[in-house]
Amino acid sequence: MLVKKSSSTHTMQQGEERFKAFLESNMIGIVLSDLDEKILEANEQFLDIIGYTKKDIENGRLTWSAISPRKYEKLDQKKVKELLRFGTIAPFEKEYIHKKGHLVPVLVGAMHVRLSPVRSVCFAVDITEQKQLEQRKDEFIGTVSHELKTPLAVLKMQISLLKDDIKNGISPKEAEETIADLNQQVDKLTAIISHHLNLARLRDEHTPARTTIFNVGEIVKKVVEDFGLVTNRKIVFKEGAIGCFIRGNELSIAEVFTNLISNALRYSPENKEIRVRIKKDWKSVRIYVQDFGRGIEKKELKKIFERYYRVDRGGEAALGAAGIGLHICKDIIEQHNGRIEVGSIKGKGSTFCCILPLVSR
Ligand code: ADP
Repeated sequence: MLVKKSSSTHTMQQGEERFKAFLESNMIGIVLSDLDEKILEANEQFLDIIGYTKKDIENGRLTWSAISPRKYEKLDQKKVKELLRFGTIAPFEKEYIHKKGHLVPVLVGAMHVRLSPVRSVCFAVDITEQKQLEQRKDEFIGTVSHELKTPLAVLKMQISLLKDDIKNGISPKEAEETIADLNQQVDKLTAIISHHLNLARLRDEHTPARTTIFNVGEIVKKVVEDFGLVTNRKIVFKEGAIGCFIRGNELSIAEVFTNLISNALRYSPENKEIRVRIKKDWKSVRIYVQDFGRGIEKKELKKIFERYYRVDRGGEAALGAAGIGLHICKDIIEQHNGRIEVGSIKGKGSTFCCILPLVSR
């Protein structure tokens, strides 16, 4: 009898040792707690996720209530009940509170293990990266739908006008001209979509955008010329420096200046010109887009780069605007290791400046 008892104790000890080895060697966060929900042990991976240390376990600072946000209280209770009933919980998403106070998104699961006494083992994986990717994809879809909505509505209206015109007997030549116009619009929409697909690739680290070395001056000049086709407004282009080679994605850079010039046109009166200038020093190129419009108040200057931020929500100029353009510009310029700055005087006008690092050809 005595012999039997010591061998079972031995087996138990072996089991615990093996369990500890499993705990420490594992790639995912693992926590061991008793049935009263007291945390007994946690591996380094788990402690890393929430920023605590082994000492915090010893002195009782690391508790489930310390790391579980209140908004998950009901869900947690439900999951504990599930664990008691079935001995296991299927993985689900929630958040933990990091020791520094921010929330960390995690995928967690748990099960009972037949140690003596019975323990519950919780598994946790940090899913911050996946969540950020999801958010970027949502943003991408939001941006694309915003930019396609207005031109699609215009296209639809023009098609229905053409239908009426045909009914009213316009000449084949006139009909052909309108169809050519419509075709051009469809080309523009296709260009917007491919710009965004490129941008999406630029943001996705796993499939980086196609980058080349190109002369940014030529791209800006082309954007200004394209505006000349669709507006009668005066846009003065001064190529103050030639051969400004940068590394990046041409379409994304073109999109930045399309956005900045569109804003300059939108937020300044018809009779005022827009100035686009390029300057360079030995390591960077500066591209300025200047308007003589309504300007931006000092306190708004930082906020205008935030997503969905618009200074004048009710104003006429804001029609069809969603406060996304500058956010995209900043994002693209930063992806190219550059920065975007703005200077403005209320009532006098604004100058946006993109600073990008030069590369040797
Ligand atoms: P949107 O123009 O679609 O609202 P943006 O992100 O391009 O979005 O701009 C954000 C806000 O910044 C605009 O709503 C506008 O109030 C302000 N803004 C941007 N460019 C200019 C400019 N050139 N002059 C005055 N205000 C501007």
